[in-house]
Amino acid sequence: MNIVVLIKQVPGTDNVKLDPETGVMIRSGKDTIINPLDENALEEAIRIKNSHPNVKVTAVSMGPESAIKALKEAVAMGADAGVLISGRAFAGSDTIATAKALAATIKKLGPVDLVICGERATDGETGQTGAMIANYLDIPVQTYVSSVEIQQAGVVVKRTVEGGFERVEVPFPVLITVNKDINEPGFPTLAGKLRAKQVEITIWRPEELGLDKSELGLVGSPTRVVKVFSPKLARDTILHKADGTTGPVDELMKFLAAKEVL
Ligand SMILES: Cc1cc2nc3c(=O)[nH]c(=O)nc-3n(C[C@H](O)[C@H](O)[C@H](O)COP(=O)(O)OP(=O)(O)OC[C@H]3O[C@@H](n4cnc5c(N)ncnc54)[C@H](O)[C@@H]3O)c2cc1C
Repeated sequence: MNIVVLIKQVPGTDNVKLDPETGVMIRSGKDTIINPLDENALEEAIRIKNSHPNVKVTAVSMGPESAIKALKEAVAMGADAGVLISGRAFAGSDTIATAKALAATIKKLGPVDLVICGERATDGETGQTGAMIANYLDIPVQTYVSSVEIQQAGVVVKRTVEGGFERVEVPFPVLITVNKDINEPGFPTLAGKLRAKQVEITIWRPEELGLDKSELGLVGSPTRVVKVFSPKLARDTILHKADGTTGPVDELMKFLAAKEVL
């Protein structure tokens, strides 16, 4: 069975800088971590690998070359291989351009049975990429997955839905997005770290994916982040001191009426 896990490298800090002109995040490669829910995705793939024969786990990322670090970490945790798609032409991708590029990468890898993504990434946080990749691969998607059972010809997943759970049986190939209830991510072992040092991360450039230039990066992104700013928190305090009369209450009622709350 071939499993692909999608790994996004995200800022490991709240001090995220955005380009005020383009609205695109400045990714310096410093202070980066694997998106926490992608660690859950990876852990699930490794759990399946450890409990079933002939499972290959490939971690895939799109990002600057510093994302090699995230893929090496994935190998140290138990993935068999890592593929990075990287190049200036990918810069400024929205979820559509990201999903097209990642779907093309998965297709290039050959037949896949299960694709596992995090439910959302902590930086862009749209939660759209997984479902869009499934769309471009033309395979079914199951979101908010909190458990997976591997069957002969597919998976049975438990999905978190409003007010409870849903159990869905779906044939291979399938893409799932996982939430944090699925497992507790483990840590790289010493043997894993040593293996990661030896494993060469494959890097594919934009022109190797068979996509047209017009589908990549900022050019291929219909979404524009028009403006990015930090919202100003402003609070006015009006104090009416109790003076034994109904005055303060009357003032409050007038204030609420003026705000059309009453
Ligand atoms: C402030 C800000 C606002 C943005 N607003 C929008 C917007 O409104 N619309 C829009 O289309 N784009 C928007 N983007 C761009 C968006 O962040 C990118 O398209 C990005 O590639 C998708 O990121 P996400 O965090 O939304 O991913 P999500 O959809 O939240 O990620 C879900 C999962 O998909 C996988 N995944 C996502 N990206 C990658 C990757 N590069 N490599 C490997 N796996 C990956 C991971 O498994 C991840 O857990 C915005 C970016 C910023 C910084």
